Amino acid sequence: MAPDPAGRFAPSPSADLHVGNLRTAVLAWLFARRTGRRFLVRVEDLDDRTFPEVATRQLADLAAMGLTWDEPPEYQTAHAARYQAAVDELASRGLVFECFCSRRDILAAPRAPHAPEGAYPGTCRDLTVAERAERAASSGRPPALRLRSSVDAYTVTDVLHGEYTGVVDDFVLRRGDGVFAYNLAVVVDDAAHAVDQVVRGDDLLPSSPRQAYLCTLLGLPTPTYAHVPLVLNAEGKRLAKRDGAVTLGEIGADRALALITDSLGYTATTVAGMLAEFDPARLPREPWVYRAG
Ligand code: GLU
Repeated sequence: MAPDPAGRFAPSPSADLHVGNLRTAVLAWLFARRTGRRFLVRVEDLDDRTFPEVATRQLADLAAMGLTWDEPPEYQTAHAARYQAAVDELASRGLVFECFCSRRDILAAPRAPHAPEGAYPGTCRDLTVAERAERAASSGRPPALRLRSSVDAYTVTDVLHGEYTGVVDDFVLRRGDGVFAYNLAVVVDDAAHAVDQVVRGDDLLPSSPRQAYLCTLLGLPTPTYAHVPLVLNAEGKRLAKRDGAVTLGEIGADRALALITDSLGYTATTVAGMLAEFDPARLPREPWVYRAG
């Protein structure tokens, strides 16, 4: 039997969660619980700049906020076989190619006039066997695997942003060092756990067309998206740990929760209390400017 639908929060354990990340987690939890979904937490630890002890603290911080989840947290590093199976499936349909480009090669390559900004220029997409062998020899490193996309852009529907169209290029599925790419892992993991509601910071809105397109290629349902406003510091820049007084270690769970409920316009003082009042239509659309004082 298919598992019941779920929402999730998927932190990368590269640094402690700050009050902005925690606010996004609270919103993901509220969205899921309000709509009768299960709620899951996934540790996105594929990148080598992530740390197990940070993951442990992140989970403790989420629990300290009063959030609850319905399955033990998953760690992406345990699921390489599942990501590889998806790459193999795409490759069997001719939808994967090897790319020998460095970041510098990509930036230096001329872009076709119609190509969207920042998109992969297609350098390795249609190499002959001989050209591929030549590039393999001269690059001296294992190739990344890219998706052979047949669209330039794709449109998703977002609860807060409405219709959003963004670039879909030949994005990376597996890096040259063997690490599976974020866009692939997210899609595969969400589908594996029946996650059909994705609530996260709106810095990731531009990634959602790539992910939704990949869902269609893999025959997976596209989740509902809600990209929530980020939190800014007093200078109007994205809040960061270095702004200080932003982590639970610095301000404590009670203070963080009070700031978050206040920023969302709730009178409740607990996440359970917020749940009773939660109305997605009333969510602020503007970034929250965080002042520690
Ligand atoms: N791990 C990503 C991050 O911390 C979020 C991924 C997602 O929610 O899709 O920014």
